[in-house]
Amino acid sequence: MTIGQTVFLNGAFRPVGEATISPFDRGFLFAHAAYEVTAVYDGKFIDLERHLSRLRRTLDGIAIPNLYSDEAWAEIHTDLIDKNGVEEGLVYLEVTGGAYGLRDFAGPEIFEPTVFLYADARPLIGDVARDGIKAIFLEDSRWKRRDMKTVQLLSQALAYRAAREAGADTAFMVEDGYVTEAASANAWIVDTAGRLITRELSHSILPGITRAGVMDLLKGSGIELVERAFTPDEVRGAAEAISTSAGAMVAPVVMIDGQPVGDGKPGPVTRRIQRLYYEAMGVDVAVVAPWALG
Ligand code: PLP
Repeated sequence: MTIGQTVFLNGAFRPVGEATISPFDRGFLFAHAAYEVTAVYDGKFIDLERHLSRLRRTLDGIAIPNLYSDEAWAEIHTDLIDKNGVEEGLVYLEVTGGAYGLRDFAGPEIFEPTVFLYADARPLIGDVARDGIKAIFLEDSRWKRRDMKTVQLLSQALAYRAAREAGADTAFMVEDGYVTEAASANAWIVDTAGRLITRELSHSILPGITRAGVMDLLKGSGIELVERAFTPDEVRGAAEAISTSAGAMVAPVVMIDGQPVGDGKPGPVTRRIQRLYYEAMGVDVAVVAPWALG
């Protein structure tokens, strides 16, 4: 990853070294902030409208005004990647409740947000997509409004640390005997009958934009989709497991708690979904991801 040296902070593009915010910022003090991460491929954003729509919903849910129209947000995103020369990678956006020179839980009636964006140049389709990742199961200890994309990410940061400690890459989080989602991705399995299963939307999981994109592509694909919660035992007995996110897109999960999922290799349904997703992005699959052609 290469962080672009020009960032956007509070209405202006600046060198990253000159982008400073107050230590009294509500993002810092209370994790009172929304964020989005949008993928860029070939200089174009993937599903930016959906990301902006989720941002609007999160901001509304945490009482922060949305300073920009979707058109203005899109222009800021485009200017940011242009200024940093990013053709492939991610744009990170965060909007906090702002800073008021004191630590007051409730804060002012109307917040004056801090708005920050940076661009990160990185290949989106690489080893993770080709070879898959390892996961562990972990109790989901997050707050109860996971449908809003906020920076309350301590549980996820600790989940990644626990995964690393166990020699894995991520965690499938479990609550009341069912998998909610992965540490920063939606979780899916393919059962032995070839059905693709992912948890239905609720306050318990983030409505992933990649999840929605994959679902759009399934129509007419012949792959049967079932939206329901599944258990860790179902993952252990699954033919395939997958995680989806803007950063890793469609990642095969090939090991869970040290045991192979299916035969321990990315399976045919995963490859099919990767291919559909990459083609929709405009990827030359034969060149960039020949392994997805099956
Ligand atoms: N679930 C969680 C908890 C996440 O943090 C993320 C992404 O960061 C996702 C799911 C996937 O969402 P998206 O596809 O919009 O990146």
